[in-house]
Amino acid sequence: YSTDIKEMEYIEELGSGTCGQVVKMRHKPSDEIIAVKQMRRSLNTEENKRIVMDIDVVIKSSDCKYIVQCLGIFLTDTEVWICMELMSTCFDKLLKRLQHPIPEFVLGHVTCATVRALSYLKDVHGVIHRDVKPSNILVDVHGVIHFGNVKLCDFGISGRLVDSRAKTRSAGCAAYMAPERIEITNPDYDIRADVWSLGITLVELATGALPYQDCKTDFEVLARVIGNDPPTLPENKDFTPEFREFVSLCLIKDKNKRPKYHELQDSLFIRKYERLTSNEAREWFIEAIRQAENLAANRSTPRHTPSPSL
Ligand code: ADP
Ligand code: MG
Repeated sequence: YSTDIKEMEYIEELGSGTCGQVVKMRHKPSDEIIAVKQMRRSLNTEENKRIVMDIDVVIKSSDCKYIVQCLGIFLTDTEVWICMELMSTCFDKLLKRLQHPIPEFVLGHVTCATVRALSYLKDVHGVIHRDVKPSNILVDVHGVIHFGNVKLCDFGISGRLVDSRAKTRSAGCAAYMAPERIEITNPDYDIRADVWSLGITLVELATGALPYQDCKTDFEVLARVIGNDPPTLPENKDFTPEFREFVSLCLIKDKNKRPKYHELQDSLFIRKYERLTSNEAREWFIEAIRQAENLAANRSTPRHTPSPSL
């Protein structure tokens, strides 16, 4: 339904990234609480056209339950607001707050949901996500459960917006970038770049640390992505062979040998979790979110610095 931007009431900030911030807001007429991504509009008309094109994809993706639903868009002279369903948290915050790795069985459900979302985007909309990382994988503990209610957000839009701006990527983003995206002589890449980023994301969530974490600059990260063997799950940890196999498939350096989604969907790891119910994962999320909230509350001491919301 149509609504006025003045009917939106600010509640609190949820976080900020490379191209804007995400805030929690109340839609006053319906009393619904939602998440709103607020981005500055550029003066470049070509770019604005592209934003509108991307928005089109966002709105049409309402038939995929592994994608954060878009509720509407506000366009002002200076800003684009994307209204989304409010999720409980993202994996980046969860990992940072808990300060311990995410168990493999939870990652099994995360993987199923993410691969379904990515292959939906490719098959139905012809879109490459380009920004797969823990902060774009959200979880919601309310409502119906599918793979623990894990959903992907920020496809197309943030990717294209960030790409078309001066290449100011944070150190975090460089680490998820597939080798073929870095090669300046060969800027040609496809959905398999997202498969690589998924592999890096899984290593980070399973170990609690981002590979290349000790690098001091983006340049160093990119040099290691290209020059070194791909990251792997550490040998001394208790991961199943099917999980290790899945991660190493995602992290095949030669993109021509790296599998696409239909092949990944045939892997033992995905087949195993497609058969299992996600009730256990959902219970793990509920408990983890509660713990993370307690930890955040205990860590924030002075009253005047707002405690980060989860
Ligand atoms: P980035 O993903 O690069 O960290 P964003 O601006 O896309 O930056 O998002 C900032 C934060 O907002 C994320 O860490 C995420 O936790 C939070 N967020 C984004 N969308 C939602 C949503 N729909 N519901 C709840 N939190 C969200
Ligand atoms: Mg994001």
